Amino acid sequence: MDIKRGFVEAVGNTPLIRLNSFSDETGCEILGKAEFLNPGGSVKDRAALYIIEDAEKKGLLKPGGTVVEGTAGNTGIGLAHICNAKGYKCVIVIPETQSVEKMEALRTLGAEVRAVPAVPYKDPNNYVKLSGRLAAEMDNAIWANQFDNLANREAHYQTTGPEIWSQTDGKIDAWVAATGTGGTFAGVSLFLKEKNPNIKTVVADPMGSGLYSYVKTGEIQPQGNSITEGIGNSRITANMQDVPIDDAIQVDDQEAVRVVYQLLEKDGLFMGGSVGINVGAAIALAKQMGPGHTIVTVLCDGGGRYQSKLYNKQWLAERGLLPVS
Ligand code: PMP
Repeated sequence: MDIKRGFVEAVGNTPLIRLNSFSDETGCEILGKAEFLNPGGSVKDRAALYIIEDAEKKGLLKPGGTVVEGTAGNTGIGLAHICNAKGYKCVIVIPETQSVEKMEALRTLGAEVRAVPAVPYKDPNNYVKLSGRLAAEMDNAIWANQFDNLANREAHYQTTGPEIWSQTDGKIDAWVAATGTGGTFAGVSLFLKEKNPNIKTVVADPMGSGLYSYVKTGEIQPQGNSITEGIGNSRITANMQDVPIDDAIQVDDQEAVRVVYQLLEKDGLFMGGSVGINVGAAIALAKQMGPGHTIVTVLCDGGGRYQSKLYNKQWLAERGLLPVS
């Protein structure tokens, strides 16, 4: 028998999928870790689970307690599922620019959702900072603090990294992923570099994020903007500190949109916007490295969460982003 005892045990162990059309076009094996198949629908289920179980182990989260977090959506959805499965309450502070699908999912899951204006991190009313203050004011509550809580990258160091290593039999030349908190990129990079320091670790970065310039010049200088959600940063989070980064690749929205529509139409994969950045960077890396290499990236979440934006042709046309086929 192979039975998962509830939501918690169903997190992780996702397939590694060959992205056939882009692999055939580039002559590289471009492989996507299928995180959209986690039970809460995204890569963030892993971090949410590790953060909650770490707080339980440390005695910070007690029965009947509340988990508070500032999140662009997917971490909140993961936390809300796990809170239901474990009997905790969940309060989510979210920038009001995030997709309506994610907010509705959070409400359906029973989380208390507080949508707040999207202001930069340095503003005291930034959603992340607000969530920290809120948790401090409540009884028997923890702040998940995904950006700076190292239990986040530990999830990927303990699970995602080893899964990728064994699914490829260690035959991997490069790992490329965009970062929100950086937990996925960092945990997997740290694990793979320990196994084989020759594996290239590459940050994929959307426009409007400062990590590309940080890797290239040492300065955080965000430029432009992006329709993608959950990725990009203008600071080095604790999860991204002391992580081996070999290079960075910037991908614009036009390319991300082209990529997700090709994945949908040629590969049958219905993906979220950050996947367009990740796979766009994997394609650029394949062109740099030349044929015959194996490049792994992550398929963070599915397209259903972005039906009203990325998969709405009128919304795309208004932004000059309609894919040209
Ligand atoms: N893609 C999506 C859609 C996300 O929600 C997130 C998390 N914010 C990421 C990618 C990045 O993951 P991480 O926080 O581990 O860097």
